[in-house]
Amino acid sequence: MTKVVNHFASDTIAVRAGIETDTQHGAITPPLYLSSNYSFAGFDEPREFDYTRSGNPTRQILGQAIADLEQGVGGVITSSGMSAVFLVLQLLKAGERVLAPHDCYGGCFRLFRSYNEKGIISVDFVDQTNDEALLAGLEKNPKIVWIETPSNPLLRVVDIEKISRLAKEKGALVVVDNTFLSPVLQKPLLLGADIVIHSATKYINGHSDVVGGAVVAKDAAVYEDLKWWANCTGITGAPFDSFLTLRGLRTLDVRIKRHCKNALRVAEYLQAHPQVEKVYFPGLEDHEGHEIAKKQQSGFGAMISFKLNGDVEDAKKFLSGLSVFSLAESLGGVESLICHPSTMTHAAVAIEDQITAGITQNLLRLSIGIENVEDLLTDLDSGFEQCRLHEVKEVSNG
Ligand code: PLP
Repeated sequence: MTKVVNHFASDTIAVRAGIETDTQHGAITPPLYLSSNYSFAGFDEPREFDYTRSGNPTRQILGQAIADLEQGVGGVITSSGMSAVFLVLQLLKAGERVLAPHDCYGGCFRLFRSYNEKGIISVDFVDQTNDEALLAGLEKNPKIVWIETPSNPLLRVVDIEKISRLAKEKGALVVVDNTFLSPVLQKPLLLGADIVIHSATKYINGHSDVVGGAVVAKDAAVYEDLKWWANCTGITGAPFDSFLTLRGLRTLDVRIKRHCKNALRVAEYLQAHPQVEKVYFPGLEDHEGHEIAKKQQSGFGAMISFKLNGDVEDAKKFLSGLSVFSLAESLGGVESLICHPSTMTHAAVAIEDQITAGITQNLLRLSIGIENVEDLLTDLDSGFEQCRLHEVKEVSNG
């Protein structure tokens, strides 16, 4: 099938995906096809779909919608973000090398490291904000350069255009994990990347009720390869998950705008707070990646990390004072979440590697939702108040 570039704006693409494509009843929203298989029209006459692992009408609409948003040729929908990562690794031959950021999502770190230890592939983890380390990594001729920007949980920002150019000189494929921003805020394929992956569990779906993933390719041959491996390994997403994700995707643009607006208020509040040691948010002018973020993103996103003045005990006290923010992993849903990366999202990363990546015990990560921002600020006030109450108690007991 020849892919036609969709020239509509992102908000229109997301809202209109699959609308009025039902030829049987003229349904406005596309139907959910749960069927695992499809009849042949006759002997040796397969229709467009034969078996849902290989292809499914509902999943196909979602895959094409995300590809259109990312301005790629096609998108494979997978059963989770990690299976999207796993799918990309199928493009490698035994022993080929991946150059990954040292502070990538803990699950990616675990998969890369485990495959490295098993001798399936070779992986180097480097600080991609450090030019010297990056160039040294590229000298080893990686086949894939993996980028995650902003990174999880410290929101380090790297220059996609620059890294893509350097990687291309070495003949590497550039893969960007765009989970933290979504295509509304960043389009890596337009900056030189070859593949974009998503944990669609996050902003793409946005309602914390689906685990899913997506891989979008810029090039038709790479897309065909990915589709082949997705079918071969059986990691394609379930139709019902695609249906829900497509429904969530329709409001991506308006959700993201509200997420970003709330996040900037929260980041400014935290930065001015005397009980905060440091705030990590690319929208703040003193953030190291602020200028790159301004150049390659159309908004700063809604993930914020911050270090409390104190230690892990203070972090526990702070958390005990919250009632709007939920203590949970994941991110990108309409509801606000808070997590302690060291013991939660990055628990799979050894403590010494956490320290190298800058993950300390007083670090907390926020996924800012779309609630009324005044309620979020009041809730954070209660967290800080808990820390102060304990301090006062400790002083009077001492
Ligand atoms: N990439 C990033 C940046 C993530 O934050 C996550 C999950 O948190 C993943 C990939 C993996 O996605 P999933 O949990 O959907 O498998």
